Amino acid sequence: MATFKLLLLPGDGIGPEVTREVEKIVSWFGKRGIASFETERDLVGGAAYDAGKVAITDDAMKRAQAADAVLFGAVGGPKWADVPYEHRPEAGLLRLRKELGLFANLRPAICYPALAEASSLKREVVEGLDIVIVRELTGGVYFGEPKEIVTLENGQKRGVDTQLYTSGEIERIARVAFELARQRRNKVSSAEKNNVMKTGVLWKQVVTKVHRDEYPDVELEHVLADNCAMQLVRLPKQYDVIVCDNLFGDILSDVAAMLTGSLGMLPSASLGAEDRESGKRKALYEPVHGSAPDIAGKGLANPIAMIGSFAMALRYSFGLGEAADMLERAISDVLASGARTKDIAGPGTNAVGTGEMGDAIVKELERM
Ligand code: NAD
Repeated sequence: MATFKLLLLPGDGIGPEVTREVEKIVSWFGKRGIASFETERDLVGGAAYDAGKVAITDDAMKRAQAADAVLFGAVGGPKWADVPYEHRPEAGLLRLRKELGLFANLRPAICYPALAEASSLKREVVEGLDIVIVRELTGGVYFGEPKEIVTLENGQKRGVDTQLYTSGEIERIARVAFELARQRRNKVSSAEKNNVMKTGVLWKQVVTKVHRDEYPDVELEHVLADNCAMQLVRLPKQYDVIVCDNLFGDILSDVAAMLTGSLGMLPSASLGAEDRESGKRKALYEPVHGSAPDIAGKGLANPIAMIGSFAMALRYSFGLGEAADMLERAISDVLASGARTKDIAGPGTNAVGTGEMGDAIVKELERM
């Protein structure tokens, strides 16, 4: 049985609570003999600041570099509102992304039939939705230089952000999208704005070339990013994998997320470059939600986003696609049986707590 190194970084607020539920699942897979995990844990965010006045230690970074996958809870909260900027809780996550070279952010939007009513769209539009947004995470307008506000001679101010991409950056994110599509329904939609942006023209050219040279078996379509936003709320099931730059990905992934209901349901993965020798990628998995200080410590948090993030780790870091399918089916079946945490419980429905939801998912796995 293969052994995988997993680093747990629970973080702050509800991070440790939802991580506890993942640990139940991790140990279940070990006991069942499906895979064994060498699990380590460390501090990040406010918890790391309280312990050592930094958002993540060099030691924790070394562990992250050595791990097959990092499972990250959430960081932040009002307690750390006044810590020095460079040590704020989010700095821990940013350091992880930067030093692990996590350039590809994968955000699935899955609408479980049992929760179709929770969406703001009609049931038939979202029921059974299963799409992934692949967002370029380390380039584009959030990082391009110059990035400044300058005062002009006439006294006005001018704000500048710079959108720039190299062909290499576009090639590697396109490859992630095409590889992913091959494991799914084999379709990639590339979203940019080549009608008004030079980076959009280059994006389209490079994605087209990668497709022609390396992935001709995958269906490719190009879509303008604004049209893609419209289509996502009109007919989201037409998509499989959507690939886009950092800015459009930020927006489109939030639109897609809200098709499915609660923040407590949304997993994500951030992947680095493939190591030529081992074929492995650095990877960090985390729920999309934050530390939810308003419900922290009350046993109310929905652990499904975190458990779904672990399912992504099974699929993308450990090559355990069947185990990932099992876990995702267990989540779906538990929801179909009527179990709901408070965030997804309709009026008049009895809600279960964080631990009960985790236990119900383990019990469902037992039945398989
Ligand atoms: P949030 O995601 O923490 O919470 C938003 C709302 O959703 C809250 O009402 C919360 O109770 C609810 N919610 C979130 N996750 C839930 C879950 N699993 N189950 C049930 N309800 C859930 O966002 P926020 O309130 O804007 O931010 C709170 C703190 O988290 C801030 O310090 C922010 O900086 C930080 N944050 C961290 C990350 C991260 O670690 N990646 C992401 C976003 C926000």
